[in-house]
Formats: sequence, C-alpha cells, structure tokens
Amino acid sequence: MPPVTGAISRALVEGIIKENRVVMFSKTFCPFCNKVKDRLKSKFIPYHAVELNLGTETEMNNYQDLLKEMTGQRSVPNVFINGKHIGGCDDTLKLDDEGNLLPLVNAKATEAHNYDYDLVVIGGGSGGLAASKEAAKLGKKVAVLDFVKPSPAGTQWGLGGTCVNVGCIPKKLMHQSALLGEAIHDAKKYGWNVEPEKISHSWEKMQMAVGDYIGSINWGYKVELRDNNVKYLNSYGEIKDRHTVVCTNKRGKTEELTTQNILVATGERPRLPDIPGIEHAISSDDLFWLPECPGKTLVVGASYVALECAGFLKGLGLDVDICVRSIFLRGFDQQCADIVGNHLEKEAGCKMIRPATPTSIEKLENGMLKVHISNGTTVVDEYKTVLMAIGRDPCTSGIGLENVKVELAESGKVIVNDGEETNIENVFAIGDILKDRLELTPVAIQAGRLLARRMYAGAVEKMSYNTVATTVFTPLEYSACGLSEEKAIEKYGLDNIEVYHRKFWPLEWTVPGKDANLCYMKAITIRHEPNEPVIGLHYVGPNAGEVMQGFSAAMKSGLTKTILDGTVGIHPVNAEWFTDLSITKRSGAELKNSGC
Ligand code: FAD
Ligand code: NDP
Repeated sequence: MPPVTGAISRALVEGIIKENRVVMFSKTFCPFCNKVKDRLKSKFIPYHAVELNLGTETEMNNYQDLLKEMTGQRSVPNVFINGKHIGGCDDTLKLDDEGNLLPLVNAKATEAHNYDYDLVVIGGGSGGLAASKEAAKLGKKVAVLDFVKPSPAGTQWGLGGTCVNVGCIPKKLMHQSALLGEAIHDAKKYGWNVEPEKISHSWEKMQMAVGDYIGSINWGYKVELRDNNVKYLNSYGEIKDRHTVVCTNKRGKTEELTTQNILVATGERPRLPDIPGIEHAISSDDLFWLPECPGKTLVVGASYVALECAGFLKGLGLDVDICVRSIFLRGFDQQCADIVGNHLEKEAGCKMIRPATPTSIEKLENGMLKVHISNGTTVVDEYKTVLMAIGRDPCTSGIGLENVKVELAESGKVIVNDGEETNIENVFAIGDILKDRLELTPVAIQAGRLLARRMYAGAVEKMSYNTVATTVFTPLEYSACGLSEEKAIEKYGLDNIEVYHRKFWPLEWTVPGKDANLCYMKAITIRHEPNEPVIGLHYVGPNAGEVMQGFSAAMKSGLTKTILDGTVGIHPVNAEWFTDLSITKRSGAELKNSGC
C-alpha cells in the first residue's frame, strides 16, 4: 500500500480510480477501513488502498478535499469499484451482504446464464475438490463428478482422488509403519526392554487400519462438499459440448448437466508396459489395498513411487528387489538421488537389478511370478508380487476433450497457459493432467483454489510453480526445494554457482550407533550476486519434509546465504546445520560428519 506522495490533483485521483478495479482511500489505523479490507480479503478481492495518513498532512487534506468535491464524502474509507463510487464502510459491507459486491467487481464471472451450473468439475481429487469448494464459497453453483475406474487388478476406492486413496496418505502411513519397525531396534539401545528379533508385523492389521482412516477421509470429503453446497455425483464425466457434461453412474444411468464453465481435474493412473504376463503385475493403485501381505516383491522403476514403495516394503521385513532401468529419481539432484538409492541397497538391503527392464512375467504352478528381463536370457527370480511403478498417464482420453477440441500434448497432457486456461475459453484444467507442471497434491490444491478466486472473485494471483518443495519418503528421506546442482549448472554455469555442503550425524542416530556418514545437505547459491541468493536446498536425512517446509517459505521470500548464515539455529536439531554451511565443493575440502 503505497504512501501518498507529491502533488495531489483531481486528475491523479481519477487516474487511480480508473486504473484499479477496487480502490479504497483509507487510513492504516481506521477500524472502519480495516473492516472493509478484511471483508475484501475474505472474498479474495484484490484492492488498491491509498493510505492517506502515510503522506504529509497537507497531502492528506488535499486528498480528502478532492474526494469531498468528487463524491460529497470526506471520510474514509472511500471506496470505488470499477470506477463507480460506493461510499464508506457501511455502504460496502451492505453491498456484500446483499450479494452485489462480487457481481460489481467481476461482472464477467457473474454474467446471467441459463445453465444448470456455473461450474462443473470433472474429477474429485486434490485439485477438483479444492476448486469446487472455493468456487462454491464464492457463491457459485457447482457440481463435482468423481468416478474411479477399477484398476486392471480390480481395485477401487472412494472420493478424494489419488492422494487420499492410493497415493500420499497410505504411502506416508505405511512409510511410518516401516519407520516404527526401525525405531524398535533403536529403542533397545535407548534402554527399552524389547526384543527386536521377536517382533513381527501384520500387513493385514496395518492395511485395515490405513483403510479405515482413508474411509473416514472419504466420508469427511462428502460432508465438506455438502456443507459447502457443492453437488457431488459419483459419475463418470464426459464433455459433450462446451456447455454440456454427460454423467454416467455405476449402473450406466446417464444425465446431462449444462454449465457455464468446465474444469477438468481427472489426474493420472499408473502406466503398465505391454509385455506378456502383465496381468499378473499390480500397480500402486492396488498395493495399498492388498488384503494380504505382498511377500517377496519385485518393484519395477526407480522414481518416487517405485523407491518409496520398495522402501516401506523392505522396512516391513519383506524381500524386495528393484528393477532400475537407468538412474535413480530422474529430475532430482543426482548426488542426493544416489545417496538415497545406495542407502536402499546397502543399508536397507534391497537388491538392485540394474540396468534392467522386465520383458515378460510368467505365473508358475506354485503361484509365484517368474520375471524375465531385458537382456533376454536372464530370469530375475520368483516373486509373490510384481509392482509396476514406471510412471503415470494422464486421464485425458474418453472424457470428450476432442468434442470441444481442447489442445493436448503428444503425451496426452493438457496444454494450459499460466492461468490454467486451455485453448477453449470456458474449459480450464488443473493438477496432474497438465503439461510441464509439478505432479504434487499441494500444487493441484493451490492451483484449484487460485483459479476459482480468479474466476469468481476478480483475484489476480496466479499459481507459482517455482520453489515448490518436495520430499521422497524413502527409508532415508530426501527433500529438495529449487534447483538441482545439474540444473543450476545448466542455467547459471559452473563458475557462477557455489555449492555449500556437509555431512551430518543426526543426534538421535548416535546412541543406536547408526551410520555417521549417510546424512547430507547442500545449499546452492548464485556466487557473484550480492548476498548469494539461494537457488537450491537439498537435505537427505530424518524428517526431511518437516525440515524443508520452512526453508521453502524462506526461499519464496528471497533467502540468501547471508540470511542463512545470520540465522541462529535451533539446537540440537538436524536442520540447524543449514545455518552453518561453510565448506564449498569448489574448495575440494574433505567432508567429515559433524555430530553435536
Ligand atoms: P487426482 O487426485 O488423481 O484426482 C483425479 C480424480 O478424478 C480421481 O478420483 C479420478 O478417479 C477422477 N476421474 C478421472 N476421470 C474422471 C471422469 N471422467 N469423471 C469423473 N471422475 C474422473 N504428492 C505429494 O504431494 N506428496 C506425496 O507424498 C505424494 N505421494 C504419492 C504417492 C503415490 C503412490 C502417487 C501415485 C502419487 C503421489 N503424489 C504425492 C502425487 C499426488 O497424489 C497427485 O499429484 C495428486 O493427487 C494430483 O491431484 P489431481 O487432482 O490432479 O488428481
Ligand atoms: P516417474 O515418471 O517420475 O518415473 C518413472 C520411473 O519408471 C523412472 O524411474 C523410469 O526410469 C522408470 N521406467 C519407465 N519405464 C520403465 C520400464 N519400461 N522399465 C523399467 N523402468 C521404467 O513416475 P512416478 O510414478 O514415480 O511418479 C509420478 C509422479 O507422482 C512424480 O513425478 C511425482 O510428482 C508424483 N509423486 C510424488 C511423490 C511425493 O511427493 N513423495 C511420491 C510419488 C509420486 P527412467 O529414469 O529410465 O526413465
């Protein structure tokens, strides 16, 4: 909110009113002005406040005299919307109470129409649910369709999409189950009278507990939709034309909804290779719902899904082999990816079959699966379960996008601009189906909320896909925010970046005598810029996600190495080492682990 400066003319005031959709002449200490600001903020309506008390007294009086001359009102707040004088606090709040504020701010979004809905959302996952609730909160009539096609192995689940049912939530809970197993071993060293050799794990109990929790979330989502007046249909959606969505329910009954706008948020499903015997394999869509323990498992793939699943299965005590086609965690900082992969192999005990890709799966009489791999002659082994985790395909076919000619990339992903708008004016898209965007739950949620606010509140904020932190929940966790070292070199050149790094020995690992040389962190900076802006942070160690979340906020706020150095650490935690990074890679100095 800029202070008032310079000479105040009527032309200046008229210019401010003309250039801004919502203008408030205000004083920072005025409770009535703050009431109006709070109301506008609660509706995500962006406004331009001219704070009269921040200029000189002459300027302030000058403004108020001019406003009196123009509107007959000298007091603040003095509010204008789309050039029209609204009045003071009571007038503005009344306008909103009577439902006329949003239409005045955003006439396009509130155009009268005769469709059944303002917005129909296809896909009730992370993005679709967030967008539909936000649009409904802004007074729109919204329907959301969510329908789960069973996986090839027949698994199905409830409302909420991938994250809740077959992604983040069951994955993190099963990862936690595995970490607890490890903690029992540590507990003995800490004085607990346990006999780790005698403990056992029940997959069935864990799966039921996880499934029950997911069931409660599914139910909670339905309640939230109802409370927000969003119509939920457990139906498959297909776009018929720009304003009609055909909904088909489980029994094959169809109905047509007409709508002003359509939002597509149909997510992705696991890709399965076209190899003989693939029907014997499962994907992550099935793993979390297996009623019985998967037993000895071959995990195919080496990215997020593959390594996380392999990690918790191994942690639960199963034999796990991993079929790695090329590198670990493509797209991530490769030094950190290798630490994670090597830990899985050498510490956790997964067998790496590398480089390899399966060519066929054969079911033996004893029910075990024999897997043949790419070099043609090798049979890998016999497994109870083969888990395919080789990537995911967008759910963009069979949903009528071709009927309205929405532009798709070759991969089937939807092409949108920086406002999540497709090439068709009233068709929008968010989440995993987008080309060149991050496939993460908070990204889909944030994009959905911001889109609804731009569509229906006149908000202008767009989704920023930069400096989004992410965590790989492998037994040794890895979290990153910003650029990998490879990307930083590619973008700025080796000479222009600095990599500060260190090994650290988590205090909690000392008593149980765990490896002192595993955990690692690095900060990548732009070397010659003032204060050295931080462009990448990487942390491999316990509680990686919890560590990186706060640092990602700092990076969004322009974190520099000078700020990191000036930050006082919290002792004794692992994240504190980020405030004490002094060794550069360029120096070639040997890294020694640091304990407390
Ligand atoms: P989804 O959540 O997939 O929702 C799409 C919904 O639309 C689904 O319910 C689908 O059935 C439905 N649908 C599809 N077509 C139609 C149709 N025609 N009509 C009606 N409904 C339809 N992200 C993280 O941030 N952290 C993690 O730890 C994490 N872990 C993951 C672990 C695994 C194993 C996987 C697979 C993913 C993980 N992700 C994680 C990614 C995260 O789950 C996704 O980024 C997120 O769910 C994407 O949300 P979305 O709204 O785009 O799609
Ligand atoms: P990715 O597309 O990221 O990775 C696919 C993996 O499978 C790669 O390792 C790839 O190897 C390998 N692969 C592909 N084809 C074959 C083949 N024929 N044989 C053997 N290996 C093969 O997919 P994911 O499913 O792991 O993840 C999808 C997205 O889901 C991620 O990008 C992420 O955004 C999200 N996610 C997020 C998580 C989190 O936040 N913790 C957890 C899980 C998923 P190659 O490198 O050789 O191509």
